[in-house]
Amino acid sequence: MRTVSEAPVRAAELDRLTAEWQGCQKCALARTRTQVVVGSGHPDADLMFVGEAPGYHEDRQGAPFVGQAGKVLESLLGSIGLARPQVYIANVLKCRPPGNRDPQPDEIAACEGHLFAQVELIRPKVICTLGNFATKLLSGQPHGITRVHGRAQPRRIAGVDLVLYPIFHPAAALYTPAMMDTLGADFAKLPELLTGVPAAPPPPPPIPREAPAPVAEPEPEYAQLGLF
Ligand code: URA
Repeated sequence: MRTVSEAPVRAAELDRLTAEWQGCQKCALARTRTQVVVGSGHPDADLMFVGEAPGYHEDRQGAPFVGQAGKVLESLLGSIGLARPQVYIANVLKCRPPGNRDPQPDEIAACEGHLFAQVELIRPKVICTLGNFATKLLSGQPHGITRVHGRAQPRRIAGVDLVLYPIFHPAAALYTPAMMDTLGADFAKLPELLTGVPAAPPPPPPIPREAPAPVAEPEPEYAQLGLF
């Protein structure tokens, strides 16, 4: 159960760790990075995103998802009425792998403690994992994102009971534009996961109007005349 007073304490601890991790030497990426990209956003967010690793722009600017994939993520957030400052965004790895290669198992093992500490302090209701690396790490399962995207899973992670919600990595839409439809459909389920309130059902289709009753043909005048 959250109390208002503890949130500032957790936020201060997150700030302290963010500063401490700037000097992290736990893996070889420390030798090639420009800076450590810990995360950004609301320290008490209900919704947390976890991507893969910083890329070129993130490594330069020190913030996650500031390149093209970040634009896609911001657009998807906008589609459900949210903006970056309302959520928290982090990555599996806090340092850029050279040439944006895949994270290596030893790097993930060295870095995962940072991510679990972030989850413990932020206490999100929903963690949305972006792509395979975050999904496999936080679900503890080997299943790929194609199989599990859009499927909410209740989990306890770093002592926090939450919903794990895997979706495709936003960068997938940069290579395959049709992926934007899948991402949009999966994103559309997030508000319900956050509030527990089902999204308003679509309005019912309009009731077809009854065909107007045929207007009775007036009898020809000659028939009336014929009555007499
Ligand atoms: N891709 C990621 O997974 N993380 C970033 O921060 C940027 C791109």
